[in-house]
Amino acid sequence: MKMVDEYRNPEQIRALSAGIRAAVGDRSYRFMEICGGHTHSIYRFGLNELLPDNIELIHGPGCPVCVLPIGKVDEALTLTNDPRVILCAFGDVMRVPGSKASPLEAKARGKDVRMVYSPLDALKLAIDNPDKEVVFFAIGFETTAPSTALTILRAAQLKVTNFSVFCNHVTVGPPIRSILESADLELDGFIGPGHVSAVIGTKPYDFVAEEFGRALVVSGFEPVDILESILLLVKMVNRGEASIYNQYVRAVKRDGNPAAVAAIQEVFEERPSFEWRGLGFIEQSAYRIQKKYREFDAEARFAIAEIRSPEPENAICGDVLIGAKRPENCPLLGVLCTPEQPVGALMVSSEGACSAYYTYVHRTLAAAKG
Ligand code: SF4
Repeated sequence: MKMVDEYRNPEQIRALSAGIRAAVGDRSYRFMEICGGHTHSIYRFGLNELLPDNIELIHGPGCPVCVLPIGKVDEALTLTNDPRVILCAFGDVMRVPGSKASPLEAKARGKDVRMVYSPLDALKLAIDNPDKEVVFFAIGFETTAPSTALTILRAAQLKVTNFSVFCNHVTVGPPIRSILESADLELDGFIGPGHVSAVIGTKPYDFVAEEFGRALVVSGFEPVDILESILLLVKMVNRGEASIYNQYVRAVKRDGNPAAVAAIQEVFEERPSFEWRGLGFIEQSAYRIQKKYREFDAEARFAIAEIRSPEPENAICGDVLIGAKRPENCPLLGVLCTPEQPVGALMVSSEGACSAYYTYVHRTLAAAKG
């Protein structure tokens, strides 16, 4: 394994930038980076500045808190009306705005909402508070689903009776398919997600090449990784080749992580349909807890009613999420919506496109203007 500095080597970065400029033909190239981690790196390291004008990078729906519709935050917060409930969530979820409050604001108003670093922390809280009902608000792609699954298995093993999970885990393949089926976005290829692929491998992306004739390169997150992936994509497009390629070989295997996949398959099953911010309802795009672990399913335990909440006025979060618009197109950015006071989820997580744009571009431009 190389040290991180080797993936930020200025000479190699310059060489890759020159290689891309030499490789591009007399046409335009539109590549979507699916993962919010890539969006963050692209802005942080100014990688789009190193590309020729005829390559456009489009941000995709790969930030886990960003794809969660507002209604799901509202649904989670209804649980806190029950004084027995302690609602637990990761730090970035705490700040995601619902229609009336974020989990953090609900906590400030006296609800029992707690930040945890892992689902196991929530399980420990349940063990330590037997007179309470501890609910873990689970979100995220296949990257985090295994740790939720393993926590449910642990709770079953320990026979914990006051722990459950409000499961909102989603899967990465269906939104890619949904984007490819949309006539609006003409994409030439994808920079494939790194973390998710460490779990699921590269096989689940085969449909991108086989059914839609597009290239996809699973990429690492450092500047050299991303530029190398873009060069590979450009060369494939020039050759008219649609393949799935793994640039991130130091972390991703073709078959992924079988133990993590087995944990997911043991505990979860596909939901018939799930709502995504910006993409609407997508079939078989999320997990729910299997009946055999029903006692740990907060939806069954608390009969959570579905809530559908509209986007804030003038916010364009959904369009930014699917790459139809860019963060700088939002009239709220930097005015009403900032990382300190986010209006939309894309401003909350460091993987959100608006947060990355605000942090690395908007602030600099604003400072330059004085
Ligand atoms: S700036 Fe805020 S409101 Fe606008 S799209 Fe981004 S997150 Fe949503």
